[in-house]
Amino acid sequence: MPDVEALLEGIGAGRRAAISQAITLVESTSPRHRDQARELLTRLEPHDAVRVGVSGVPGVGKSTFIEALGSRLTAAGHRVGVLAVDPSSVRTGGSVLGDKTRMARLATDPRAFIRPSPSAGTLGGVARATVQAMLVLEAAGYDVVLVETVGVGQSEVTVAGMVDTFLYLTLARTGDQLQGIKKGILEIADVIAVNKADGDRRQEARVAARDLAGALRLVHGAADRAPAVVTCSALEDSGVDEVWDRVLEHREHLGTEGLARKRAEQQLDFTWSLVRDELDQRLRRSPAVSAIRAEVREAVLSGRLPAPVAADRILAAYDEG
Ligand code: GDP
Repeated sequence: MPDVEALLEGIGAGRRAAISQAITLVESTSPRHRDQARELLTRLEPHDAVRVGVSGVPGVGKSTFIEALGSRLTAAGHRVGVLAVDPSSVRTGGSVLGDKTRMARLATDPRAFIRPSPSAGTLGGVARATVQAMLVLEAAGYDVVLVETVGVGQSEVTVAGMVDTFLYLTLARTGDQLQGIKKGILEIADVIAVNKADGDRRQEARVAARDLAGALRLVHGAADRAPAVVTCSALEDSGVDEVWDRVLEHREHLGTEGLARKRAEQQLDFTWSLVRDELDQRLRRSPAVSAIRAEVREAVLSGRLPAPVAADRILAAYDEG
């Protein structure tokens, strides 16, 4: 691993090898690398980028969409970073979220940088790595960063906490459109795009988008801005511009101050989630806790020890250890 000085110089010059190495460094969980990563992070030039989360169930068309959108953005002169948050890191058919093989065109685009999800166990670990990778990409001059995630557990909420605008891709369904979307999503989505609006499904998608927009207006009421709903076809590359326009509109709606406040609050939330994650790791690693783990387990399983008492005993061991 080159030293921090060399990495900073390479990042400043936009050299891909240095960017890759810096991201590997910030993904590393070894204590030695963490010190270096911290130094790198505090010395990176902050640059303002458009940070967008892209989510949706597997098969909805996330990678096709990112490929279409990313190519349009790079053609318009932007530099686009693509990161992924996949806490399950389950490899299905050899492809991982944000995998280069899924975005063949963007992967060879000199103005794009694609990085698959770090496979660092916990969601907290993945989030920590992804936020830092985002800062590396921004310092290297990537002015748009797309963070892709699937709806596994808390990953969508985690990604919503690190981006300016959260885009949710969905498909037309017959019947109640709201039913098809997890409730939590409606609270964090800023823009919703009904994808695969092509061929026989074009009309169905339009109806679905209209119904969804109406339902969302009801849910949000007059005081609150409902997410914009549009249709697109990632495959045919139609409507992708409109989706991007809605993303930019959402940023405009936030305004400079609103965006700054949102980011500041995200930083504070993220600080505490990092602390919680670290405490969890320390608890797992604590020799004093390990020493009583089997005994406490046995006592709780056999009904001799009530859970609150067991928890106190573990915490006492941790505090003393
Ligand atoms: P992901 O799992 O969300 O990343 O979905 P993919 O981008 O891998 O797409 C899943 C499948 O849907 C692939 O076969 C795509 O070709 C197809 N697909 C993606 N977008 C569209 C679209 O807009 N229209 C149609 N008809 N198919 C699409």
